[in-house]
Amino acid sequence: MIIDAHAHLVAPTSLYAHRSQLSVSGGQYGDPYRAKVSDADLEVSAAQNVAIMDGVGTDVQVLSPRPFLMINGNARWENITSWVHDQNDIIARTVKLHPTRFRGIAALPQQTGRPVASLFDEIKRATEELGFVGVLVNPDPDEGGGKSPPLGDPYWYPLYERLCELDLPGHIHSGNCSAGRETYDEHFITEESLAITSIYRAGVFERFPSLKLMVSHGGGAIPYQVGRWRSHREMARTAGKIARDAPTFDTILKTFWFDTVLHNKRSLELLFDVVGADRCCFGTERPGSGAGIDPVSGRPLDDIRPVIEAIESLGEDDRRGIFEHNARRLFSRLEF
Ligand SMILES: [Zn+2]
Repeated sequence: MIIDAHAHLVAPTSLYAHRSQLSVSGGQYGDPYRAKVSDADLEVSAAQNVAIMDGVGTDVQVLSPRPFLMINGNARWENITSWVHDQNDIIARTVKLHPTRFRGIAALPQQTGRPVASLFDEIKRATEELGFVGVLVNPDPDEGGGKSPPLGDPYWYPLYERLCELDLPGHIHSGNCSAGRETYDEHFITEESLAITSIYRAGVFERFPSLKLMVSHGGGAIPYQVGRWRSHREMARTAGKIARDAPTFDTILKTFWFDTVLHNKRSLELLFDVVGADRCCFGTERPGSGAGIDPVSGRPLDDIRPVIEAIESLGEDDRRGIFEHNARRLFSRLEF
């Protein structure tokens, strides 16, 4: 079985038209103000996505909302919660339409400065009512404004505690960016890198050893920049700032999970080499930013499966892990 652990919702335009209405209306239509998407329209979108999956041999996609389309930052709290509710409902309906092809990752209502305990109601609904297998965690709900505490900050600990209690993985994936210096694509990589370094520095996995976090897009820049962080760690050891037998940076890095949304063979080889193939789940983000056609292979750059199959350093067990078994270990609620 081929499980795509990083894919986003394909939804009718009526859903996104509602987002615009929601954003500009400022409560004009009352709260909650919910999207109306017909079953017929949703089936067209879902079938379109199934065809895209079939085109590359993907059996199951783990679907989350499209992060850059989430409403975060300083938006009205009612808009944030309403849009999250709509997103999760539409994903749940998509799963119901094709129960052998999709599973859901929940959006969470993240607002700048609001305690993470405000996410718990939606986590409960997503797991108990909607049957979702994980949650999407935006490490920067302030969207580039500088007010989001890094993921190593105690602000996030109640969320980690809840995720551990539920054995629910968090998929780390930032959303939009309003800073003006980064596009949202660039912001993804920045935030993924910061997620790893801040969590490592704060010793989050020592406090929450059963926490499961999957860092998007192959862990941002960190696997590529690993030498810098190895050195920091060893300098800290020499200076007596950490215990002599404290784990190395590489050991801590292998506590995270990673996806394979890299669109480049040599980047994937580096990822598997640095973090271990057993920590990586096949992911494509297809359809999405990798839709460009590779001038060399003539295939879409997000058709990652043949690229992984061609990596000589991987054994058969590694490949089976990447394509299926690692996702089953990560998403304990993934029942097929
Ligand atoms: Zn994504």
